[in-house]
Amino acid sequence: MSLITVGTMAFDAIETPFGKVDKIVGGSATYVAYAASNFVKDVKQISIIGYDFPIEELNELKSRGVKIDGVEMIKDKKSFFWSGKYHTDMNTRDTLITDLNVLADFNPIVPDTYQDAEFLMLGNLMPKLQLSVINQMKVRPKLIVMDTMNFWMDIALDDLKEVLTKVDVLLVNDGEARQLSNEFSLVKAAKKIMEMGPKFLIIKKGEHGALLFHENHVFYAPALPLEEVFDPTGAGDTFAGGFIGHLAKTKDISFENMKTAIIVGSAMASYCVEKFGPERLKEITKEDIETRIGEFVELVSFDIDLV
Ligand code: AMP
Repeated sequence: MSLITVGTMAFDAIETPFGKVDKIVGGSATYVAYAASNFVKDVKQISIIGYDFPIEELNELKSRGVKIDGVEMIKDKKSFFWSGKYHTDMNTRDTLITDLNVLADFNPIVPDTYQDAEFLMLGNLMPKLQLSVINQMKVRPKLIVMDTMNFWMDIALDDLKEVLTKVDVLLVNDGEARQLSNEFSLVKAAKKIMEMGPKFLIIKKGEHGALLFHENHVFYAPALPLEEVFDPTGAGDTFAGGFIGHLAKTKDISFENMKTAIIVGSAMASYCVEKFGPERLKEITKEDIETRIGEFVELVSFDIDLV
């Protein structure tokens, strides 16, 4: 089952209470691809990179079954660059720099070889570009999942709202859900956001897990309590990659299966935060993933004997 992933492939500079890196590979589509490639062997990447993006990283992705025909390389420009600094609690961060570089003139093209994909993951990117990818699909994918962030709510809200009318699942964090809906209560926020288009809404709450809303149903998945969170960058994208990867692998887009997909996404994200950048995602094995999913099951399973 094939899956298209769209988003940034970037360099990041990250500062956390545990350390600092000036230049590490990142980007929304990079994290999504690393996570999803554990579940789907045909991940079709759409992105843009500059002359400086490491060839070894592209080879690493290719070795995991990620197709890069849709990754455009611009010879005389630098890759997208983002820099962020985390607060002590690691749940909040400040964006220090967003240098669009190659992203400024990105015009994503869906290659013909990608047209058969049944799953589409719109990673965090300019909403206009997310829309352009949807419009280029000759057959509407079975499931379109969209990620976004407050940055686009601040500067491209109308475009973002247009994309919302065309997607099935939206992923945001709690702050973004409140910003988008103008509601403090997440239940009210979810209702308002689902009226904007998506039938399913996932609200991520960092170390406090994630909520899945659909019609009048809500499901909660915790985050695994970890002794050390080293760098949360990319956790959201990794969650998205695990979530859609599981759905694409099982070809089942029911609410029930989305509950499992959220646990899979949470397990992947819990690995991502253990090291800077996507490093930890490159080390883990199928067995590691299964073990961690088992830890989630253990975390929430209990019997109640009411007399
Ligand atoms: P996350 O921590 O899941 O929100 O994702 C962080 C990744 O998103 C970093 O690797 C950045 O390169 C990338 N990123 C940051 N800002 C943007 C943006 N405005 N558009 C697309 N990607 C971004």
